[in-house]
Amino acid sequence: MSAPPIPAALGPKPLLGYTNSRLERAAELRIDQAAQGAMVADARAATYVVGGEMIVLRKGEPSDPLFTLDDARALGAADEMVFLGHLDGAPRYGRGMPQAAAEALKTRDDLLITDLRSIAVQGLVAAEHLPPLAEAKSILQWHARHRFCSNCGHATDAVDAGWKRLCPACKAEHFPRTDPVVIMLIVDGDECLLGRSPRFIPGMWSCLAGFIEPGEAIEDAVRRETREEAGILCGRIQYFRSQPWPFPSSLMIGTHAEAKSRDIVIDKTELEGARWFSKDEIVSMLTRSHPDGLTTPPPMAIAHHIIRAWVEDEVRFT
Ligand SMILES: [Zn+2]
Repeated sequence: MSAPPIPAALGPKPLLGYTNSRLERAAELRIDQAAQGAMVADARAATYVVGGEMIVLRKGEPSDPLFTLDDARALGAADEMVFLGHLDGAPRYGRGMPQAAAEALKTRDDLLITDLRSIAVQGLVAAEHLPPLAEAKSILQWHARHRFCSNCGHATDAVDAGWKRLCPACKAEHFPRTDPVVIMLIVDGDECLLGRSPRFIPGMWSCLAGFIEPGEAIEDAVRRETREEAGILCGRIQYFRSQPWPFPSSLMIGTHAEAKSRDIVIDKTELEGARWFSKDEIVSMLTRSHPDGLTTPPPMAIAHHIIRAWVEDEVRFT
């Protein structure tokens, strides 16, 4: 038997966006005031600048998302400054400003103000900047949305280099949150199930996904979401890999799931379509050669990798 031609058609595996951070987070230094003082005075210190959904870049090929602390200060007042970690010993920060202030910088010819999805999909910065940009955006948006104590309502203060908020009134400590999301490819032999959300760009189909609820295991969330969104029952579930998704602070948990039923009943509030696809059709979508122009999500997204792993016969249910 000859080897299947599928992997050659797909080429080398792309990078999964926002993963493989080169930063050493150096969490022990967050509470070390002396170390923090020395680091902001370090000539190698540099910061990413985030304004809500917008990231400030210095235009170039590729664009540069890092600013010296002085240059960043000159861009406008900061809401918050977070110590992200070290890159080869050089301190890295995330500096948050109001979105309107970042958007006002669009008048400058030397700057590019755009969102982190576009930056990742279009490869506007070197790939090594994507994980720290995701880190900066997620935690700065947490600060922006958690200015008041959820216990007593008093205004809170950022402490520990931006990794905690403390309530001066009731002493409650508040930590940055990450929201787990299951994203799954339902498979049945040589077919898999993809859905279309009305929010997707035209022609794109993807894995089903949904937030894990309190008190719920990953496997139970996969089965519940698949039943709710597509009416399909799932059997075994295999963990694949994960991806931080900084919009604003999700963790996508990628899985493959065995279908135990075939008849699709979609939840029309979540999806505008769901159907079974053959492996051949999926390959044409991954390679952007589908006769009807159908596509899968871009290579930076975990859905692309989940789908591709199944096409390349890498999924083993245990
Ligand atoms: Zn409080």
